[in-house]
Amino acid sequence: MTANANKVEPLRKPVQCPNCGKNSQRDTYPFCCKRCADVDLNRWFGGSYAIATSQSQDDEM
Ligand SMILES: [Zn+2]
Repeated sequence: MTANANKVEPLRKPVQCPNCGKNSQRDTYPFCCKRCADVDLNRWFGGSYAIATSQSQDDEM
């Protein structure tokens, strides 16, 4: 798949923003706006991701 990096995609099919469900924008894909992208990022860094990490440390296996 070496040619994949040179492949140009002028238009990406819009997807629903994972944060609010609006149609995504190309600049902030797959989010509808930068704000939603930041919200999702903060959630990963500050919220569920940290909880998931501590849970895996507390694994009962
Ligand atoms: Zn959004």
